[in-house]
Amino acid sequence: MHELVMACHDCDLVQRIGEVPEGGAAQCVRCGATLLKHKRNSLDRTLAWSLAGVVLFVVANTFPFLGFKAGSQIQETTLITGVETLYGQGMWTLSILVFLTTILLPLMQLSALIYLHLPLKLNRIPYKMALVLRYLQAVRPWCMVEVFMLGILVSAVKLAKMATLVPGVALYTFMALIFVIAASLSSLDPHLIWEEWEKKR
Ligand SMILES: [Zn+2]
Repeated sequence: MHELVMACHDCDLVQRIGEVPEGGAAQCVRCGATLLKHKRNSLDRTLAWSLAGVVLFVVANTFPFLGFKAGSQIQETTLITGVETLYGQGMWTLSILVFLTTILLPLMQLSALIYLHLPLKLNRIPYKMALVLRYLQAVRPWCMVEVFMLGILVSAVKLAKMATLVPGVALYTFMALIFVIAASLSSLDPHLIWEEWEKKR
């Protein structure tokens, strides 16, 4: 029997919690606050969202992000050339920030999510699981910052070129990617991951 001793986040009462079924939740006996909640099909859903995220990530980084129309000519930019443009214009702090939030962070989040969930799905324990899980929780507040950074990137590049902007495939793909990563992170269930770890140990 899997049992957990937990303190209530709201009233600090320490209590014993038995097995929580999938989709179920445990409530504090004293104040009724939710102690822990088991998300339904967390493993499968997180993995599915993450794999979809990888596909979107590849598309978002290979296809044109923005096009600039000047006369009959269209010049296309990808996400990484946009970052290079910023850098070339001397806005290097901004270019590094945009690179970190729009390229590196999503890539690392997706890798970490798959690194944790794929082995568990295949009945294995990922190496250094606690470390990767902790990393994921640590970068979580940075989720959605990329929306803001994207706006900065677009306006900075637009100011520089003074041409008509044509949104590219990658721009829409990137928007979708942001939501897919958010969905993947929200279906992540650390309690469940630790339970799987105990079962497979
Ligand atoms: Zn309580």
